Amino acid sequence: MTISPDLEKRLHELCTCFLEENAKLNLSAFRTEENCWVGNVLDSVAAIDLELFAGAKNIADIGTGGGFPLLPLALLMPETKFTGIDSTQKKIDAIGRICDAMDIQNIQLLSGRLEDIGRDSAFREQFDVVTARAVAPLNTLLEYASPLVKMRGHILCWKSMTIDQELKDSLLARAELSCTLEKGYEYELPGDWGKRQILVLSKRGKIGKKYPREVGIPKKTPLL
Ligand code: SAM
Repeated sequence: MTISPDLEKRLHELCTCFLEENAKLNLSAFRTEENCWVGNVLDSVAAIDLELFAGAKNIADIGTGGGFPLLPLALLMPETKFTGIDSTQKKIDAIGRICDAMDIQNIQLLSGRLEDIGRDSAFREQFDVVTARAVAPLNTLLEYASPLVKMRGHILCWKSMTIDQELKDSLLARAELSCTLEKGYEYELPGDWGKRQILVLSKRGKIGKKYPREVGIPKKTPLL
């Protein structure tokens, strides 16, 4: 995808707003314009060439923290409704201030635990795509994400290139939570940032009502 000069300007503006919030709240380790641009913005927008976004109307970013990949994707896809979810209220408040400052209108924000939100009928199986970066190992992550995704929807997980063990450890979770691994979409960030990948999973069947389990259990006792 080519980013228009206007959009690039908006994405730089996002870095500035984010760094102002980060200075107050310690949202992320990326504290310089360059780190934020490559590590947060370019890393987030890497997903945009995936065709599955084409028909997506409703996207949730789970464990969104300071708003990545949520905020760059929402700027790139202004017609799509985004929901940012995190358990830490101060992070959700910071994203809200960034959205206000930049007049971003296609994001709703939810503060709460994914284990509770995944059981709420207002959110269960409501999203075409769920995105997640740096939230949890894949087995735990799928228990958070799969309940929120519609049938035949997709889950995108930003990961490093060395995840062989994590993939093996997610076999039971993938089966129990009806998630099929379609591919690892590889991309390269500039300079020393190197190669990364986005795992693309699709949801192919119903999942049991027992998922997600109670708060804390998916992390403490992941499906193994
Ligand atoms: N996605 C962002 C990024 O890549 O910059 C933030 C990553 S941060 C390391 C992980 C975030 O996930 C934290 O903000 C944390 O509060 C949130 N999180 C982890 N487990 C969660 C859960 N069970 N429910 C809601 N939020 C959760």
